Amino acid sequence: MKLPTLNTQILLGALFGIIIGLALLAMGKTAPITQSSLYVANLLGTLFIDLLKMVLVPLVFRSIVVGVANLQAYQQIHRVWISTLGFFAFSMAIAIVLGLVAAHIFKAGQGLHLDMFQQAMSNFEAKQQSVAEFFAQFLHGLFMNPVAALAQGNVLAVVVFALFLGIALVIGGERYRNILTLLQELLEIVMQMVRWIMVITPFGIMALLVKLIVSQELALLSSLSKFVAVVMGTLLVHGVIVLPLILYVMTGMQPLTFWRGAREALVTAFATSSSSATLPITLRCVEHNLHVRKEIAQFVAPLGATINMDGTALYEAAAALFVANLVGIELNLVQQLIVFFTAMISAIGAPGIPSAGMVTMVMVLQSVGLPAEAIAILLPVDRLIDTLRTAVNVEGDMVGSLVVQKLVKK
Ligand code: ASP
Repeated sequence: MKLPTLNTQILLGALFGIIIGLALLAMGKTAPITQSSLYVANLLGTLFIDLLKMVLVPLVFRSIVVGVANLQAYQQIHRVWISTLGFFAFSMAIAIVLGLVAAHIFKAGQGLHLDMFQQAMSNFEAKQQSVAEFFAQFLHGLFMNPVAALAQGNVLAVVVFALFLGIALVIGGERYRNILTLLQELLEIVMQMVRWIMVITPFGIMALLVKLIVSQELALLSSLSKFVAVVMGTLLVHGVIVLPLILYVMTGMQPLTFWRGAREALVTAFATSSSSATLPITLRCVEHNLHVRKEIAQFVAPLGATINMDGTALYEAAAALFVANLVGIELNLVQQLIVFFTAMISAIGAPGIPSAGMVTMVMVLQSVGLPAEAIAILLPVDRLIDTLRTAVNVEGDMVGSLVVQKLVKK
């Protein structure tokens, strides 16, 4: 019997995960069958994420070094840098504006009162952090002893060290040819491991989605349902209309062709809520399915996974306005401009791990004098929103790789 393609298997895995999760939820969280299924789902889901994390750091390190070295060799590095950072800033800016506009139109916090959430807020101690502190910390985190960064899985610091090494290898030229060849071969080996991991991806995704659905708090969800719906809807507008439109205008690629090539990564991002953990699969999609040249994919995708987060930026802006509505404060234009910039900075600074955007959002709230404790209100729905915002984050990285390839060719 012929097995369905991996793409179909992944979609089926996601579908079954949602169906099983809903069925278990209907049977009740304390039912023995729910408990034992949750145990198995937890085991399998964690195993899947662990496998992805196992290859992540070696993959990021090698792909950036090799990517930079190859780009530099073609003397295209400046163009790639500028187009990449330009595209990231451009798409995140659009996402934030969308988030702000949607929050204005739908006014999701109105009708709710802050006192409804008093208990959650008083139990929650937000770590206060100003923009200046955040910036200093971010800058400090960029440069690290590479061995420590590799060992701790600090992706951003690994990226930075790999950039340096890639450039040094090229400047050294022929002298370091062997090191470059070695790294290239190591990269191919790691990609081989990713191919093995892909085999269990449908099951991993199914398990993660079962776990996600069973652990939702329905009572809290219903009081915040309007906010969740507005954010999810706006994320969908950005992911289904805006990004594909930018892609079409810039490269002429049809949205359907893009979806077909990108969906393995999109579904994985949705289920794992981590751009970093998804990166091995993102790279595979970008190189193999969407046919982006290796050196561009290997540079843009890992960088994007750590700094380009359209979904997170959109969410942070919308959530700030939501909290303002709850508190009963009308933010003026200047304050909204501050939200725009801090949302962008905190999305860039958020690592590609689950709920990271939630943590960096404290800074956005504080920048306009909103109570940081208010994120306690959003915490229960964060995991749910994180699914779609991570998928949009990863989609932005893939669209970015295609756009940069086109811009560089010109
Ligand atoms: N989970 C997101 C990501 O990995 C970051 C966030 O929390 O917004 O891309």
